[in-house]
Amino acid sequence: MPREAETHADIPFGPEDTPWQKTFSGLRVGGGRPYGTPPSLDPRTAYTSVPEVPHHKVQLPPTGLDADQYTEAEALFRRHIDTQTRNFAGYQVTSALDYEQRLGHYLNRHLNNVGDPYQSSSYTLNSKVLERAVLDYFASLWHAKWPHNPQDPESYWGYVLTMGASEGNLYGLWNARDYLSGKPLRTHHRTPGDRAVEQAPHGEGPHAFHPVAFFSEDTHYSLTKAVRALDIDTFHALGSTRYPDDNPLAPGTPWPREVPSTEDGAIDVEQLAVLVRFFARRGHPILLSLNYGSTFKGAYDDIEAVAATVRGICAEHGLDHRRVHRGQDGDHDERSGFWLHVDGALGAGYVPYLEMARDAGLVEQAPPAFDFRLGDLHSLTMSGHKWMGTPWACGVFMTRTGLQMAPPRASEYIGAADTTFAGSRNGFSSLLMWDYLARHSYDDQARLAAECDGLAAYAHAQLLALQDQLDQDLWVARSPQSLTVRFRRPHADIVRRYSLSSETVHVDGVARTYVHLYAMRHLTRQRVDELIGELRQPGAFA
Ligand SMILES: *Cc1c(COP(=O)(O)O)cnc(C)c1O
Repeated sequence: MPREAETHADIPFGPEDTPWQKTFSGLRVGGGRPYGTPPSLDPRTAYTSVPEVPHHKVQLPPTGLDADQYTEAEALFRRHIDTQTRNFAGYQVTSALDYEQRLGHYLNRHLNNVGDPYQSSSYTLNSKVLERAVLDYFASLWHAKWPHNPQDPESYWGYVLTMGASEGNLYGLWNARDYLSGKPLRTHHRTPGDRAVEQAPHGEGPHAFHPVAFFSEDTHYSLTKAVRALDIDTFHALGSTRYPDDNPLAPGTPWPREVPSTEDGAIDVEQLAVLVRFFARRGHPILLSLNYGSTFKGAYDDIEAVAATVRGICAEHGLDHRRVHRGQDGDHDERSGFWLHVDGALGAGYVPYLEMARDAGLVEQAPPAFDFRLGDLHSLTMSGHKWMGTPWACGVFMTRTGLQMAPPRASEYIGAADTTFAGSRNGFSSLLMWDYLARHSYDDQARLAAECDGLAAYAHAQLLALQDQLDQDLWVARSPQSLTVRFRRPHADIVRRYSLSSETVHVDGVARTYVHLYAMRHLTRQRVDELIGELRQPGAFA
């Protein structure tokens, strides 16, 4: 063996600091040579991101760990996670979970919801029966027409996501891109061999099937990734390459990357209108993604106002209703020339209950409507692990049946149409959401929503009081009805202890680094008071 490899094979590995090449059991050392590659560096020094768990205790030698080693390693990891869970305050994710007693059984069951949720598949180890119950629940909560009915274009269609809202955004934009590009609809699906589906659609103007995307500067990073993965032109990309000198917001200056927001974090409807008009006038279909509960400031875009504005502009330019023709035989469908997607990662799971709480007199206000009550809403997504709370990422995507695109190909292999983003889909997530919804009535959820709203108001008031006491501007702010309060980033120890997330925001051209806390169900006044106590210590804001 070359000398260099021998040196690396000596790197101490695993809980007993065994030289790596000595970690093999007899059977696996074929002819005295270790199977696989030796480490090229000591991983203990290469990875430093979770210093709370000593890396050598959890390293996995080819022999695995013996019972004592396993017990020690698992205890170390558990202590770390349990400590962080206790103080978790910085993200819009519920960490108070209690699924173990009832659902532990299913950790030894394989559940895979591969393919369309409404078609039972030849893959029988699935939870689609629960998935459909969950989807119907949200369809009703979000004022969609339900149940899903393939014959009824106004009825909803949706599925439970294997990732969170990031997948919902990706799927929503994919569907939107193909819809606006004139690709065939699912309900207009032709049998293979029909030439019609292969011909380019034709409509009005050279840009009629070249959509352009708009979203605000407070939008989640998953949208940036989605437009890149899907190769969708944003108004910034198209503006700066084709019309570099014509930025309509400030002629002669560079195009903004995203639509400007108000200080609260909601999309600026007037500036959006100017940008949309610029491209609608040139015949581009409009793809818009709005936030309902923006990630950092928790802001709610005024979806109804945006929809009315964009519909009006599109109507002026023939983009509200249009005919998409295929082939020469007059075959066509009617569809809109804009798509409105709502990213409701947290808000879509939470605000319906806050609205109920408002109607019951438990809180004074709730944000404006966002759901299928708005006729111009095309698609919506929510994360399951945020408001509801699940041990891993999951979520819901929903659209109207008549807006679905034909899946890329039929999939005989799984025995159900391949209408979702993933192949294998996590069937445990549907079970978790079903379990949660079965055990929490609307009344329970409205009370929880009111409590969290009250806790956010409490945290806001306490931070304002602290700001007065310290006589220092901590930039304390809470956007209307949001569950988050933001303030100046404190010392790194506090940031780590409470898992506070940071973001740099430009205020009047000056960069400010904020953190925020989220008043989720697991957070208590006591924990907020503890945090404030730490923030009051000298040096907390050094
Ligand atoms: C959290 C979040 C997402 C991404 O959701 P994941 O569940 O992490 O994929 C998308 N949009 C907004 C507004 C979010 O807050």
